[in-house]
Amino acid sequence: MELAAKIVSLCLAAIYMVLIVIFFAKRKSPSLLCVYLAVFLGFIATHVVEWFGITGMGLAQQIMLLMCVFCCLACVIVYENDIKTLFARVKRLHLKTEQKNITDEEVRTSLKAIVSACQSLSKSRTGALIVIVREKIDNYIIESGVRLDAEISAPLLESIFNTKSPMHDGAVIIKDYRIVTAGSFLPLTKSLDVDKTLGTRHRAGIGVTESEVNDVISIIISEETGIISTVRKGILRRYLTPERLFDMLYDPLREDIEKGKK
Ligand code: ATP
Ligand code: MG
Repeated sequence: MELAAKIVSLCLAAIYMVLIVIFFAKRKSPSLLCVYLAVFLGFIATHVVEWFGITGMGLAQQIMLLMCVFCCLACVIVYENDIKTLFARVKRLHLKTEQKNITDEEVRTSLKAIVSACQSLSKSRTGALIVIVREKIDNYIIESGVRLDAEISAPLLESIFNTKSPMHDGAVIIKDYRIVTAGSFLPLTKSLDVDKTLGTRHRAGIGVTESEVNDVISIIISEETGIISTVRKGILRRYLTPERLFDMLYDPLREDIEKGKK
């Protein structure tokens, strides 16, 4: 009887293991819920057999327990980005981050400097990528660039993107109305809907706005065409005039001031 229980329990554990391996091999098909269910069922199964007084399940229990631990670890690794997003949402809901008070006049002055820089970069066909952080940005984007912590000015932005400058590659990050970094590396969009004629500068400008972790607006100046574009939440708007660019930036930032965010 004990031998039969052992064989059955080993078979159950083996099936359980195979199912988990299949799941992680084809992790795109089932949802995260399936893994939680598998872990939960594993736990329940190991205890239910005890409640029915079946003995000899020790080995299977240990294997299942190990698999549960493996599952939890695997979930953390596989769903790292989802977990980050979840934490970011919770943090956004519960934490009031330190925010600097900024007046409408200061916002307008900063935006005028940015727009003026974009206008001359566009005229001279100098490629540029500027990210304005509304609330937050992934720390690795800041870490990937050269720290500047400088006041926003058109001449500074133009000189950063001058092709002779060592910092012209990558993005300038603007946070709390200061130039925080230059040469920052942004995540590229994975979307297949992006116009095939657009290269990595545009893909990076779109990608940075798509993550739940980042609450940003990006501005792209094309080196090839001089076209000025902005991206918010993955939506690219091209062919902007300086006036339109100002409005596209000012409207959401004014909302932030009104909400008392900045
Ligand atoms: P353009 O219209 O200006 O040619 P594009 O969309 O065609 O833009 P590319 O020609 O591939 O893009 O632009 C390459 C430049 O884009 C790089 O030299 C670099 O400055 C910038 N870039 C590329 N990838 C990234 C990234 N992941 N993060 C930040 N900047 C990037
Ligand atoms: Mg190009």
